[in-house]
Amino acid sequence: MTDRQTELLPCPFCGGTEIEIRRMPSQWQHPEYAAQCGECLTINGTSLGMDAAAQEWNTRATPDYVKPLVDALKKIEAIGYELEKPNHIARNEIAKITDEALSKLPEDLR
Ligand SMILES: [Zn+2]
Repeated sequence: MTDRQTELLPCPFCGGTEIEIRRMPSQWQHPEYAAQCGECLTINGTSLGMDAAAQEWNTRATPDYVKPLVDALKKIEAIGYELEKPNHIARNEIAKITDEALSKLPEDLR
């Protein structure tokens, strides 16, 4: 039996999808629950129900519209490690990656 109806979003830190709601040790009369990523073991604070724990977990997840920005930052970081690349070429590549990522944002956030 479960009182959880909320789908769990992927882990905001590692992108893992093996998220589990665990019953935690509690000093209170009511059981407490927390969501935990099975891949990086990130755990959120405890809640008084499985569904509340799931909703709490989902507030930490990365919104879909942020993902292109995260990808862009990873690409830009990788360019930073290509030391032999001339600066003007790196700058052009970074500008292109940035423009592309910003174009994917919802219009009200641009
Ligand atoms: Zn994780």
